[in-house]
This record gives sequence, structure tokens and C-alpha cells, in this order.
Amino acid sequence: MSAPRGWSTTTCGHCRELRPCHRRILGQWVCQTCVLRFRRAPGPCPGCGGLKVLAFYDARRRPACAGCTGHDPVYACPACGREDSPFGRHCGPCTLRQQLTELLADPSGRIHPQLQPVFDALLAGPRPQTTLYWLTRASARPDILRDMARGELEISHAAFDALPADRAVNYVRDLLAALGVLPPYAPAVERIVPWLRGILTELPKQHAELIDRFARWQLLRRLRLLAERDRVTRGGVQHARAAILGAARFLRWLDEQDTTLATATQAQLEDYLVCFPGRGSA
Ligand SMILES: [Zn+2]
Ligand SMILES: [Zn+2]
Ligand SMILES: [Zn+2]
Repeated sequence: MSAPRGWSTTTCGHCRELRPCHRRILGQWVCQTCVLRFRRAPGPCPGCGGLKVLAFYDARRRPACAGCTGHDPVYACPACGREDSPFGRHCGPCTLRQQLTELLADPSGRIHPQLQPVFDALLAGPRPQTTLYWLTRASARPDILRDMARGELEISHAAFDALPADRAVNYVRDLLAALGVLPPYAPAVERIVPWLRGILTELPKQHAELIDRFARWQLLRRLRLLAERDRVTRGGVQHARAAILGAARFLRWLDEQDTTLATATQAQLEDYLVCFPGRGSA
């Protein structure tokens, strides 16, 4: 590697490798790798007590920060001055604030009011670097938040129902529910939705529509109301799934009897209950 102009290749005072060194740390020329390592390891400054990069000697020859030793603040975030959380040119919190502002901005450029709790919570997390890493991974689906902020995706459980229910999507959904952006929901209940979608694709169109309406307006609605009071049980979820399968079977049976729900006679319904005891009611 050839040294950029102004750098001299010399023995790094820290790692002892022969490398381009452009900065002095504790009086020694140090290579770029060692500067980065140093930057990531701040300590309490004996002068100001702050968590700082101790790259300079003070008058008593103690490693201290730039501010306490009259040096330029080369390790400080240019926006806020902190030295304890480096991330690129700025610090982690400033970078995160900027990226979250971009991610969660509505078309007017302000944080979408409904997503303000997301902004606050992610910014207050213990490790901004972790959140920043999450934001850069497309597979983690931060785009869902962006689309919601821009009004391209509704901020609702229904919007999530239309997305693949994979881990990344569920994570965003859980986050929104935990922060109160979305109403509380029970994952066991909401997992019925993608499962239902699979069932519906197997059914003739007119059956699928009926079952879909029945599932959403009767079963899921009831379960979601229970979920709001934290009263969903495993049995309740199983019952709902069984009812959906039972209803699908019932419609198929009606077809086989050459009749429809509207024209089925009481006698036929009773026949059905005899054929499938305990499964016809839902
Ligand atoms: Zn080095
Ligand atoms: Zn200091
Ligand atoms: Zn900063």
C-alpha cells in the first residue's frame, strides 16, 4: 500500500509494522489501523473525567483527551463533540439520529407523528451501532418503516398481514405493537392469517370469499378483542383454526350435495352434522 500524500511510511509505534502513519498517539506515529483501534477504546480522562480518546499526554504525563491537553478535537464527533461512540466520521448517536430521521420522515420531511415512538425508542437503545447495523440490512426489512412513514404502506396490522410473515417482518411488527404504534396483538392469533391465506388458495373462489369473511369478521375479530385483554388461550386459537377447516369442509359438502349455503335446507344441515359431528358448528 502506498502512502497518501503527506503520510510517511514508518514503523507504527503501536503495532510495530512498517505502515503509512499519519497521526501521533501518545507521542508516537501510529498507523491507521491502530488509530481506529485507539478511537474505539476511550477511557475516563484524568483531566475532565469524560469518556474520551486518551491520545495525548497532559502536563503530568498522563494519557488525557485532546481538550484537556490543548489539541484539536480530532477524535470528537463534529456534530456533538462526544468521543465515546465512534461511527464513521460522526458518533453513533448522531449517525443514528440522522439515519432514523431519513427513514421515518413523512413527505413533509418531519418524523411521521405516529412513528415518533419508534424514533425515540431506537435512538434511546443502548448500542446505536447495533441499530445502525440493523438499518443497513435490507433483509431486516427497515423498508417497512420507510414505506409507512411515506404513506406508501398503511400503519396497521392489515398491512403486515399482506406481507410474508417471516422473522424480519414479525420483528418490525412486534416492535410497533410493543411501542403502542399498533394495537397489541397475539402472535398466535396473527399467525392464523398467513395460514388462512394458504388454505384459501386451495379453495374455489366463491368458497374462499365466504371463508375469508367468516374467519376475519367472526373468528379473528373475536380473538383480537380477547388479545387486547390478554385473554387468548391455545384452545381458543385451535378452535378458530378447526372452525375454519370445518367451514371449508362444510362448503365442499354443500357443493357435493349440489346446494348452496343460501338454499341448504334444515334437513341437509342436519345431515351434515351427522356426517361430521362436532365440526359443523363454528
Ligand atoms: Zn499500527
Ligand atoms: Zn479531558
Ligand atoms: Zn455526535
